[in-house]
Amino acid sequence: MMRIILLGPPGAGKGTQSQFISKEFGIPQISTGDMLRSAIAEGTELGKQAKGVMDAGGLVSDDLIINLVKERISKPDCANGCIFDGFPRTIAQAEALVDADIKIDHVVEISVPDDEIVSRLSGRRQHPASGRVYHVKYNPPKVEGVDDETGEPLIQRDDAQEDTIRDRLKTYHDQTAMLGGFYQDKSKAGGDAPEYHQFDGTQDIDVVKEQILSTLK
Ligand code: AMP
Repeated sequence: MMRIILLGPPGAGKGTQSQFISKEFGIPQISTGDMLRSAIAEGTELGKQAKGVMDAGGLVSDDLIINLVKERISKPDCANGCIFDGFPRTIAQAEALVDADIKIDHVVEISVPDDEIVSRLSGRRQHPASGRVYHVKYNPPKVEGVDDETGEPLIQRDDAQEDTIRDRLKTYHDQTAMLGGFYQDKSKAGGDAPEYHQFDGTQDIDVVKEQILSTLK
């Protein structure tokens, strides 16, 4: 059993690195952002509640997210663990994991400065069905505009506009960034706490990948 949390601002490379970790250890990636986007696409009640907040770069309520995650990790594919990508995003969500006795083994923080984030997110493209992410400049698909594995079209997410990116970064600094320190302190205290590791996310994707995988092994 191995549960991993990926921390870092939007656009740090959490989704990309999650996929590498998922392949290496055979555990699923759980992206609360992707789950919410599917709910919006399907027009569910959850999707309706989440859409406005997401478009404005804010956070969906802790209760909704916590329930979504609890339900997801009860599925059989999570029996050997999972990778949380984009969760927890608040101290309350992190505390909910502790309260529910969901033990985390590793916290991996990927650090990237704000200016770099803005240039990255505005060039980001995604294959909606699989969650695979590309970048027009840094990680282009083999053929422009289509997914490498399925050949289906890539989309630019609604929240990839520059204004929304700035709002998402503000939300990140106000509500999420402190989770790094939160887990760092817990890790130092030892005991049952997850191990905390930090990586420089401005390095090449492959370099970050090697550093993370060798740390987790
Ligand atoms: P992401 O794809 O992880 O960047 O998430 C996209 C958007 O979904 C975020 O900007 C939030 O509005 C919402 N969201 C995703 N995960 C969470 C979470 N753990 N808590 C609250 N809101 C979330």
